[in-house]
Amino acid sequence: DAFTDIRLKGVSYAFGTHTVLHHIDLHIQPGSVVALLGPSGCGKSTLLRLLVGLAEPAFGEIWFGDRLMAKAGWSLPPEARDIGMVFQDYALWPHMSVAQNVAFPLKMRNVPRAEREQRVMQALERVGLTAFAGRKPAGLSGGQQQRVALARAIVAEPRVLLFDEPLSNLDSALRESLCHEMAQLLRQIGTTAVYVTHDRREAEWLADRIVHLAAGTVESECTVTSSSGEM
Ligand code: ADP
Ligand code: ADP
Repeated sequence: DAFTDIRLKGVSYAFGTHTVLHHIDLHIQPGSVVALLGPSGCGKSTLLRLLVGLAEPAFGEIWFGDRLMAKAGWSLPPEARDIGMVFQDYALWPHMSVAQNVAFPLKMRNVPRAEREQRVMQALERVGLTAFAGRKPAGLSGGQQQRVALARAIVAEPRVLLFDEPLSNLDSALRESLCHEMAQLLRQIGTTAVYVTHDRREAEWLADRIVHLAAGTVESECTVTSSSGEM
């Protein structure tokens, strides 16, 4: 049971009287990479906030494997969910070195120092940045900073990885190469991942399955074939 599945059962969410997610049913297979794709305002960020634990459903339940994450009136806090997250703006701590940024989730989990150092270097190796361990994030390019954030997200081997439009701040050539790099890394580590984007090409480059959201409902789901994005 190395990998966990994600289940949303009849999940609804409202801002006051404005319902933004309507009875979402979704099953994400263990170890799969799913893109949540849809236009601005369709509810992607809201759904991601529910998965992270920054919002609580009005109705329904969210499960990671056999663990209940949230139901109406109750929500497990983000730090108890065993997730790794990558944000659009990298969200690295500027006063910490690259290695210290990556080590942070391990410190939170009280991983002993020797093991921490080994796992930090392994994560940096996976993203090709071992030479940058002692540098501050400000000295790195946008693509490099996002690779550091990726290393930080995977270093503690969380049950679930969540991505919030991580490539939107990068220029399009870099976006494509980093997207393929991330796809390869996600296949290697095999962690169940949810990737929010409004860019259909990113979804096709990266995901096994695409869930199309429209106006707060799942409009359709499709499996991505390996030839996608190469036409
Ligand atoms: P997306 O991420 O797909 O752009 P969001 O989840 O941000 O969509 O927004 C879904 C809907 O919820 C939109 O109609 C948006 O206007 C509304 N919404 C988002 N945040 C708030 C808020 N803080 N208060 C009220 N309505 C909000
Ligand atoms: P601590 O706060 O644990 O005394 P530091 O603040 O120097 O140590 O570093 C924080 C963490 O960052 C360390 O636990 C270590 O895992 C990691 N780290 C720092 N520098 C390196 C490095 N050059 N190579 C690998 N890991 C490093």
